[in-house]
Amino acid sequence: MRLAVFGAEGKVGRALVPVLERAGHEVRGIEIGDEPDVRGLDAAVDFTTPEAAPENVRAALDQGVSCIVGTTGWDPQPLHELAAAKGLRLFVAPNFSIGAVLMMRFAAQAAAYMPRAEIIELHNEAKKDAPSGTARATADLIGGDPAIHSVRLPGLVAHQEVIFGSEGQLLTIRHDTTARESFAPGVLLALEKLPELPVGLTVGLDSLL
Ligand code: NAP
Repeated sequence: MRLAVFGAEGKVGRALVPVLERAGHEVRGIEIGDEPDVRGLDAAVDFTTPEAAPENVRAALDQGVSCIVGTTGWDPQPLHELAAAKGLRLFVAPNFSIGAVLMMRFAAQAAAYMPRAEIIELHNEAKKDAPSGTARATADLIGGDPAIHSVRLPGLVAHQEVIFGSEGQLLTIRHDTTARESFAPGVLLALEKLPELPVGLTVGLDSLL
């Protein structure tokens, strides 16, 4: 496919673009200050900032290009109607790591039996939003409005623990992302499934598995 990648020079972008190219995709990197010209491309991928992503997505949709977005900390719901009206897809995943999606699934299963839980999410200090999109999605899945603790330190990539507590026992479900290449298989899966998705907004890698 012919793709635009908004944020190709970012931490995720630099890990993602070589994997996309090795998989046979042709990539046009678009950085801050570049004209968001994506007309005629097959899809646009965005890993930028919560401020930039809505404008990038709107520009791509206006040019007739479906979008896959990993940027967290923004609300894609207002763009559902624009995508649907244009017959395009907007796929947004707070976490493209398949292991993290399984962590969320297992946490939802555990919550049925151990309803008291708290979430600790740990990310690199450069991450701009807190709590993380994954932590908020996990909280929604397990219900009961669990407390979320955010840690931002150098040395971290992306990590999350969901701790369940009940009388005399603790259960911890933990996922660690140790390299940003972990997000690439999820993006490739989304590119593969994009044409089969309903038009408008779809949220979460879970919906593709
Ligand atoms: P990052 O290193 O800060 O990279 C963001 C990149 O976007 C930078 O190169 C930045 O350029 C560029 N950028 C900013 N505004 C732009 C614009 N208007 N148009 C095009 N490019 C623009 O951040 P990251 O660690 O790669 O993460 C990017 C986003 O993905 C964050 O929201 C993060 O939370 C999210 N994320 C999601 C997942 C997932 O699985 N869904 C995984 C990891 C990260 P400058 O440096 O010049 O400002």
